[in-house]
Amino acid sequence: AWDASSCTNNECDTQRGEMVVLVTGAAGFVGSHVSLALRERGDGVVGLDNFNSYYPVALKRARAKNLLKDGVFVVDGDINDSALLERLFALVKFTHVLHLAAQAGVRYAAHNPLAYVHSNVNGFVTLLEQSKNSNPQPAIVFASSSSVYGLNDKVPFSEGDTTDRPASLYAATKKADEALAHTYNHIYGLSITALRFFTVYGPWGRPDMAYFSFTRNIVEGHAIRIFQGPHGEELARDFTFIDDVVKGCVASLDTATPSTGSGGRKNTAAQHRVFNLGNTHPVKVGTLVSILEKHLNKKAIRHIQPMPNTGDVMYTHANVTKARLELGYTPTTNLELGLKHFVKWYQNYYKSGSAHEASMSGYKPY
Ligand code: NAD
Repeated sequence: AWDASSCTNNECDTQRGEMVVLVTGAAGFVGSHVSLALRERGDGVVGLDNFNSYYPVALKRARAKNLLKDGVFVVDGDINDSALLERLFALVKFTHVLHLAAQAGVRYAAHNPLAYVHSNVNGFVTLLEQSKNSNPQPAIVFASSSSVYGLNDKVPFSEGDTTDRPASLYAATKKADEALAHTYNHIYGLSITALRFFTVYGPWGRPDMAYFSFTRNIVEGHAIRIFQGPHGEELARDFTFIDDVVKGCVASLDTATPSTGSGGRKNTAAQHRVFNLGNTHPVKVGTLVSILEKHLNKKAIRHIQPMPNTGDVMYTHANVTKARLELGYTPTTNLELGLKHFVKWYQNYYKSGSAHEASMSGYKPY
């Protein structure tokens, strides 16, 4: 079986026929869940994360602690650090890279545009270069986003739909990632899969996301802002439960063709794939709040406001037919049940004494 300690004596190879996966953004919400799922079935996982302070680092550290307990080797470092990547790839023969590290969030970009370019564009190219030059070349699966559909108003969104009008800087960098993925596949034969996640939520989630900050505000008795479009229409999202997204990520890794190219040589059998990973049932934000009120047994103070131009789109809705046919992806958790799991986790986590560490002081996007 995989033993993270073997990383120190150069035995992390693929001879045992297992996957050995580099998960970037492993201390993040999605990364920590997928890393644990891979470990559970015996795959080798090395996590890389720079533990940035976009949201409370205590939460990232707590997730990383869980990973270490389960035998994930966690490296504190940046995907832009090419020397670090070179050392890691020399030490471990990765069969796959699951690239989730990114500057996430749509609204933060207003004041921090270059953070997105740094992690989502420069960082991705640094990782692609390292993968291209590796022998063997790992198959790459990376997080794109439903935000690439931008101002497309043809719903539900299918993979072949236009992505010509990204509405935010975040979306623009994810679209850039998809273009880069295509180029590295075309020129160097890297096997690459882009996963367009649709508003992922669940236990160990991200405090900057609406469902999380709404929960906190309801618990603490603060008002929440619910945005409306110019004609009174409510914002709706295709909220997707973390366990469903984890299954989609694992199936993408399992079906990624092994790379045959190496050291920059072209792998002619390489795949270039794009999949939506959504839930297929968009829910209005007001309904999300009602479900939270029910699970928390407490009323929210709702402030309905006109939608500011922050780069958010009004509506997302995934067509997942392609992922169903090629990955066997079928989302099974509805919002009501998924939020029940989230609220239970939230109440335990903040009861356990980590609360003050993980509080949102200094960062209030909503
Ligand atoms: P997250 O912020 O919890 O996780 C990202 C992790 O990457 C963080 O732990 C962060 O510290 C790390 N990171 C950021 N920049 C880095 C860098 N330069 N080097 C190393 N580590 C770095 O976000 P998440 O919700 O888990 O999202 C995972 C991926 O999925 C991201 O690429 C995100 O853009 C994408 N995505 C998420 C959602 C969602 O709803 N959660 C939706 C669409 C797309």
